[in-house]
Amino acid sequence: MIGVGDMVLLEPLNEDSFIENLRKRFDHNEIYTYIGSVVISMNPYRSLPIFTPEKVEEYLPGLDEAYRSLRDQDKDQCILITGESGAGKTEASKLVMSYVAAVCGKGQEVNKVKEQLLQSNPVLEAFGNAKTVRNDNSSRFGKYMDIEFDFKGDPLGGVISNYLLEKSRVCKQPRGERNFHIFYQLLSGASGDTLTKLKLDRDFSKYNYLSLDSATVNGLDDAASFRTVRNAMQIVGFMEDEVQLVLELVAAVLKLGNIEFKPESRVNGFDESRVKDKNDLKEMCELLGIEQSVLERAFSYRTVEAKMEKVSTTLNVAQAQAKTRHKVMGVLDIYGFEIFEDNSFEQFIINYCNEKLQQIFIELTLREEQEEYVREGIEWTNIEYFNNAVICDLIENNQNGILAMLDEECLRPGTVTDDTFLDKLNTICAEHQHFESRLSKNSKFLTDHSLPHSCFRIQHYAGKVLYRVEGFVDKNNDLLYRDLSQAMYKATHSLMRQLFPEGNPAKVNLKRPPTAGFQFKASVGGLMKNLQTKNPNYIRCIKPNDKKAAHIFTDSLVCHQVRYLGLMENVRVRRAGYAFRQPYEPCLERYKMLCKQTWPHWRGPARDGVEVLLTDCSVPAEEFAYGRSKIFIRNPRTLFTLEERRRA
Ligand code: ATP
Ligand code: MG
Repeated sequence: MIGVGDMVLLEPLNEDSFIENLRKRFDHNEIYTYIGSVVISMNPYRSLPIFTPEKVEEYLPGLDEAYRSLRDQDKDQCILITGESGAGKTEASKLVMSYVAAVCGKGQEVNKVKEQLLQSNPVLEAFGNAKTVRNDNSSRFGKYMDIEFDFKGDPLGGVISNYLLEKSRVCKQPRGERNFHIFYQLLSGASGDTLTKLKLDRDFSKYNYLSLDSATVNGLDDAASFRTVRNAMQIVGFMEDEVQLVLELVAAVLKLGNIEFKPESRVNGFDESRVKDKNDLKEMCELLGIEQSVLERAFSYRTVEAKMEKVSTTLNVAQAQAKTRHKVMGVLDIYGFEIFEDNSFEQFIINYCNEKLQQIFIELTLREEQEEYVREGIEWTNIEYFNNAVICDLIENNQNGILAMLDEECLRPGTVTDDTFLDKLNTICAEHQHFESRLSKNSKFLTDHSLPHSCFRIQHYAGKVLYRVEGFVDKNNDLLYRDLSQAMYKATHSLMRQLFPEGNPAKVNLKRPPTAGFQFKASVGGLMKNLQTKNPNYIRCIKPNDKKAAHIFTDSLVCHQVRYLGLMENVRVRRAGYAFRQPYEPCLERYKMLCKQTWPHWRGPARDGVEVLLTDCSVPAEEFAYGRSKIFIRNPRTLFTLEERRRA
C-alpha cells in the first residue's frame, strides 16, 4: 500500500499531510483514496491498466458496497460524481457503468442491456460534449441515468435525463473552443457519398459555425469517433433511417449557420432583413423538405400576437400507468464548476447546479450526520464547516433570488435590457455577503471599483466568478418566434416536425413558455428530491493540474479543491462517525438467527437483544455505539460479515 488508502487513518491529520498523501499515491498511479465510503479520484490524464472491469472491484471497493446494498438490502443507490471541469467525472461515470456490466449476470438479454447502457455514452458525448479551454471533452449538459435492476441484481435498462444543454455553443464558441463534437466527426468521418447526399463539404472552413482556430484537437480522432458513434447509435436502437434523419438535421444546422442576412429598407422607413446568398438556404430547405419561401418569410417577419392565456392539461400515459418497483442505481454526471475569462448565463446555470450538489453533500454527509449523533445521544464534538446554503438561496430564493429577479425582468412590460436586470440586482442583492457589484453596499466590498461595468460577481463555494450580464435576458427568455416554429413544423422531414410540436397550428398555445432559468431550477429541484430518497455514494474528482497533462501534481491547485470540497471536514466527521445505522427492532429481526439466546424469540427490549446478539457474534465492541433508538456500526464490512453468516 502506497501512503494511506483511507484518509480516516491518516496520522497526523492536517491539510499538508492530506495533500502529501494524495501526491504520494498519485505519483505511484494510486488515483483512488477513500474517506470512509467517499472516493477521492485524481485525474491521471493517461490511461492506467486499472480500468479493466476485473480490476475495478479491487480499486473501487466502494462501488462494490453500493451494488451489494442494492442487490441484498433492496436499497436504491445513487452515485454522485462531483468536481470541477476536467476533473474526471464523465470518465468516472463510465467506469461505474463498466463495473455494473462486469459484476452482474451474463445472459443474452442482460448482455444486450449492458451493451446499450455502455454505448449510450459515445452518442450522448457526440451531441453534448465539446472541447473547451478546460477540457477537451467537456460535458455541456447534465446527465442523470437511473439504471434499473431486477430482483437478482441484473440490469433491465436505463432511463436517462438530460439537463439544460449549452445551446448557445452551436452558434458561437469562445476563442480556443469548439462546437459540439458531432459536427467535426460527421465532416471527417462520413463517406464521400454520405456527404454528397447531405450536401456537405469536408472542409471545416466552409462553415461559419465551426471556429477555425482549434478545429482539430490533439488526441481526438474525429473520423474514428464518427464510426464509433454510428455503431453506438445502432446498438442503442436507432434504425438506419433514423440515423439518416439525425445526420440530415446536423447538416441542416451547418447550412443554417451559413445563411447571412442583409438589411433592406422598406417604404415605411423600417429596415427589414433579407437573406443575402440563397444557396445555403436552398440546400437547407431541400434537406428538411421545407418550401424555401416559407422559411424565408419566417426569417424576415415576426408576427406579434396578443397575449391570451390558454391552459390545457392532458394526462400522459406514462403518468397514468402504475409502475412496478425495480431496484435503482442512479448515476449523476453533470458539467463541472467552471470559471472562464468571460462567464455568461450558461456558467451561471452550471455553477448553480454545482452549488446544489455541494449542498446535498453537506446536508447528507456533514450536517445530517452530526445532527443524528446529537439526537441519538452519541458522544460528539461538533465540527465546523462552511455551509453554502446562503449561496443557493442568493440564486434560487423565490422572492428575491437572482433567478426570480431575472424572471421578473423578463416578464415585465416595457423596455427590458440586461442592464435593467443588473440595476435590479444591485438594489436587491447589494448587501448580500456573497454578491458583489460596482454598487455593492456590502461594506466588505465598498472600495472595490475593479469590477467592470455590466458585471456582477458571486463568491461561489468553489471560487469567485465574475458574470457579464450581456445575454442573460435573452437566454433566459429562450424565445423562438412562432413564425419559425411554424415554418419548421411545415417541413416534410419527420424528425424536424417532432422537434417543433409547438409549431402545429392546431395546437396553438398562447401561454408563454416557462423561462430557461425557471425550468432548470425546477428540474434540479426535482433531481435533488430524487437523490435524497436514495443512499448516496460520492466520487469526488480532483484535477491535478491546469495543463491537461499526466504526471504533474500542482499543490496549490489540489489544495484549493480539497478546501472547497470540504474534504478535511469530511475526514473529521467521518473519523468520529459510524458508517451504518439501523433501528434496534429490524436489526434484531434480521440477525436473531445468528444467536441461540435471541432465536426464535427475544423477550425484552430490542436494544438489549441486539447487545446480546452482537456480543455473541464476537464483533469487537469499538465497532458499535448504542444510540437512543438505533445501533451504530462503524464499518460496513462488519455488516457484510453478518450478512454472510446469515446466508451460510
Ligand atoms: P466536465 O465538467 O468539463 O465535463 P469532467 O469532470 O467530466 O469535466 P472528464 O471529461 O471526465 O472531465 O475528464 C477530462 C479528461 O481527463 C478525459 O478526457 C481524459 O483525457 C482524462 N481523464 C479523466 N479521468 C481519467 C481516468 N480515470 N483515466 C485516464 N484519463 C482520464
Ligand atoms: Mg464531463
